[in-house]
Amino acid sequence: MTHPQAMPREQTVRYLRERAFEADEDLAPAEREALTERIRTLLRERNAVLVAHYYTAPDIQILADATGGHISDSLDMARFGAEHPAETLVVAGVRFMGETAKILTPEKRVIMPELEATCSLDVGCPPEEFAAFCDQHPEHTVVVYANTSAAVKARADWVVTSSIAVDVVRHLHGLGKKILWAPDRHLGDYIRRQTGADMLLWEGACIVHEEFKARELQQLRAQYPQAKVLVHPESPAAVIAQADRVGSTTQLLKAVVEMSAPVFIVATDNGIFHKMREAAPEKTLLEAPTAGKSATCQSCAHCPWMAMNGLRNLAGALERVDNEIFVDPAIAAQARISLGRMLEFGRQRRTPIHGAGDA
Ligand code: SF4
Repeated sequence: MTHPQAMPREQTVRYLRERAFEADEDLAPAEREALTERIRTLLRERNAVLVAHYYTAPDIQILADATGGHISDSLDMARFGAEHPAETLVVAGVRFMGETAKILTPEKRVIMPELEATCSLDVGCPPEEFAAFCDQHPEHTVVVYANTSAAVKARADWVVTSSIAVDVVRHLHGLGKKILWAPDRHLGDYIRRQTGADMLLWEGACIVHEEFKARELQQLRAQYPQAKVLVHPESPAAVIAQADRVGSTTQLLKAVVEMSAPVFIVATDNGIFHKMREAAPEKTLLEAPTAGKSATCQSCAHCPWMAMNGLRNLAGALERVDNEIFVDPAIAAQARISLGRMLEFGRQRRTPIHGAGDA
């Protein structure tokens, strides 16, 4: 069988997508309860804290909340982990999130329930090909999204999240810089339209957000005229064009609370519904359509790799203290510089930085 690294990008994503599994699909209630108790004990015994992404299963989010952990987007997860006194960070999410935590907190042990949990944006931007692309355009400032490997972050001048990407690119555009952007083409196109910057785009996409459908969204809006539409900017332009609010996961979560509408149509991973329901239980939430009548969808508004995080493999990783994330120290040091530029920019502008992958 061909190794995934040797496959063309689209094929690699398909291959990995097919290997993804729904972690706790067959868990009986008694087993669920026993695992939850076991994880609580192990977190204490291992001096560990659980940080989970908004797109993980409700069981994991509830456990993170109940044990003094944190649920957020990738950068905020890493920041929480860095400030928390625990020696071990258990990162429930996808691989680049564990790497970001390790880059920002190299002295801590970072473990993950499932090391195979990846991201189509990360997989679709292999470091060597990306470095060659950058080398071909030396006059461009390289800005990458947080949903990338440590090596891609290390090659970039800036790492940004979806909440600050427009501001950073606008700032660089104001300085007369041309931008090389990677990996999400929809987010890149959105930033270009917002800023008017001269941008070269890498052709990556998130398999979840790319599947939201504009025509079907129009039909759903006609059915619910009182609904407001919330869209993550990794979605196609025709979907973004229908949004009442475009934003990162944290910004969309805030919008559900702040906006007075009784109904929301949400174009991002449906894992966020857990926190949205908690924050605004009186609101009705509808998934934005991912496929037309009789069509099929690949992700159906839920990331197959986020779904690989479950109670069973979380307990296993804590029990064995394995599935550890390592980042080459030289790469981590370089990636810290490009991440640090964003953090400093946010500090100076007092911009809250949220929202990778929703990230
Ligand atoms: S939902 Fe997030 S983690 Fe999953 S493929 Fe999309 S960007 Fe990557």
